[in-house]
Amino acid sequence: MTGPDTPGPGRLVFGGSFNPPHVGHVRLAVEAREILGPLVDRVDLVPCACPPHKDNSGLLPFSLRVAMLEAAIAPLPQLHCNRLEGERHGPSYTCDTLVCYKKTLTGHQLYFLLGSQDYALLPTWRRGLELPRLCQLVVVPRGGDGLDAFLATSSTLWPGCHPCSSLIPTAQAVRLPDGGICHFLPLPWLDVSASRIRRAWLAGRDIRYLTPDAVLDMLSAQDEEIRTYWRNDIHHA
Ligand code: ATP
Repeated sequence: MTGPDTPGPGRLVFGGSFNPPHVGHVRLAVEAREILGPLVDRVDLVPCACPPHKDNSGLLPFSLRVAMLEAAIAPLPQLHCNRLEGERHGPSYTCDTLVCYKKTLTGHQLYFLLGSQDYALLPTWRRGLELPRLCQLVVVPRGGDGLDAFLATSSTLWPGCHPCSSLIPTAQAVRLPDGGICHFLPLPWLDVSASRIRRAWLAGRDIRYLTPDAVLDMLSAQDEEIRTYWRNDIHHA
């Protein structure tokens, strides 16, 4: 049995639209897996079936995004794609996903990986401020946010939280008044985004090295269908 403060075979969950998956996602998952080491057995990338915060008009079908993600991480056995959000109806809320994980991974520590900008937006997520009751948040800096910004955001979100040691190498942590823990993990963030890839691909530009070759192959193979979806995205942008 592992508790919140004891090392053991936990699981790191990394959610996103993956429309399409790109090297930023894959590299972050690989580096997080390496640094968490024996704290986790693997990293689960969890494609969002129906993102609550995004305009979904340009979103590729769930099954296609899953296929792309599985192809992107196929050479990396320490990464796994979990399709559980495809089994629910309505908006795919992270809190519901973590509750599902808690039910199936009883006694294992759950970690949830997110960027610092999403961390600051947790109050806009459904039950966002309650997520640390379900998992430990692992926050990766984005856009120049450093430890100071993480500490300031943490104090705004959970007044009374205080710095504490982190079991994750190179990370710093805060303990929340109710005992939850959020980590700040300084991993590199590659300057690539799915929206930029979609725009470049639609414009006929070269997107090699921004996304794995297996994803490039799927884009070519289903060019017409994908173009139909992503054009909608441009029209709504
Ligand atoms: P979009 O440009 O369509 O908004 P995105 O590139 O931000 O998409 P998402 O699928 O929305 O990708 O993000 C999934 C997860 O990956 C989120 O937690 C997000 O913070 C993270 N992420 C996005 N871009 C990067 C990147 N370049 N490096 C590491 N993580 C990233």
